[in-house]
Amino acid sequence: MKIKEIKIGKVSIPLKKPFKTALRQVNSAEDIIVKVIADNGATGFGNAPPTAVITGDSQESIAAAIRNTIGPKLIGMEVGNLEGIMTVIDSSMRHNSSAKAALDIAVYDLFGKLHELPLYKLFGGYRHSMTTDLTISVNSPEEMVRDALEAVAAGHTALKIKVGTDAALDIKRVQAVREAVGDEIDIRLDANQGWTPKEAVRTIRSLETMGLNIEFIEQPVKAHDFAGLKYVTERVETDIMADEAAFGPYEVFQLLAMNACDLINIKLMKAGGLHNALKIANFAETMGIPCMMGCMLESKVGITAAASIAAGKKIIAKADLDAAVLLAEDPVVGGVSFAGNQIIIPDAPGLGITEVIGWQEI
Ligand SMILES: [Mg+2]
Repeated sequence: MKIKEIKIGKVSIPLKKPFKTALRQVNSAEDIIVKVIADNGATGFGNAPPTAVITGDSQESIAAAIRNTIGPKLIGMEVGNLEGIMTVIDSSMRHNSSAKAALDIAVYDLFGKLHELPLYKLFGGYRHSMTTDLTISVNSPEEMVRDALEAVAAGHTALKIKVGTDAALDIKRVQAVREAVGDEIDIRLDANQGWTPKEAVRTIRSLETMGLNIEFIEQPVKAHDFAGLKYVTERVETDIMADEAAFGPYEVFQLLAMNACDLINIKLMKAGGLHNALKIANFAETMGIPCMMGCMLESKVGITAAASIAAGKKIIAKADLDAAVLLAEDPVVGGVSFAGNQIIIPDAPGLGITEVIGWQEI
């Protein structure tokens, strides 16, 4: 099975409600969907949601990197030579992690099809379903309570609350949600780089004193401030997770060597795909640091890829793979399914995806 052709397209999927974090607000999920087509007609699906504020990648830059720079080098390569293909993807250009992830996911999908193996089994087959949280956008405390109660009523047992816009108000937000949902629900916070190190320590200590029982806190400080992240981690009891700081394997290696965090959030679009996500998981496992698999606002293509590696690897113990649940429509045929708080990985070869409806070639 050889790579014959690469097609680039996009889908625009409306959200059920606007997605708001300390970094941005969006009303729809824009996703680039790549089809890597083999000479026997098999298609591998990959995706890359342009998330400029996090990855620096735009729709135009992703499409150009795939079309002009990385894609042409892959034509004619044997799908069975996964290692060779990944070396070409990684070495063809610097940065552009989203474009690399899209091709990586599509090639893994084809590799799974070639060997008739679902990807979660290829990655270790540790589980075939996981609990995923649901993200509560940053809003007024009243609105966040409404969203949280709605999520719990739908069967969710873990809520990820977006904070980081105003430390005093953040405490009120979390307190209001905790009072509304009770003690049985896991509450994790994501500050999306919104606090200074000292502000983070003050805020987190207040949350601890108030007994709000926060499972962990994601990225309290700026992405580049590894020393600040370590400062926070050392001064609070609550577990601290690196997200924007934990970009690719190299950054994660640095964070782990510094003991700068308690947990790592792996995302395919930061890592540059599944093969780098696997490296990160292996580093973290070596250092005894549990991981969470996260996602961008994206279609079920990337969610299925992320869920497949998370399910395969024991060290990826948590999942924040709710993007598909936030979408008002699902154009992806096949892939993961959802039941209450569970994300269920399919047993079909590769990603188990057969088509993306409304895919428009660009
Ligand atoms: Mg995050």
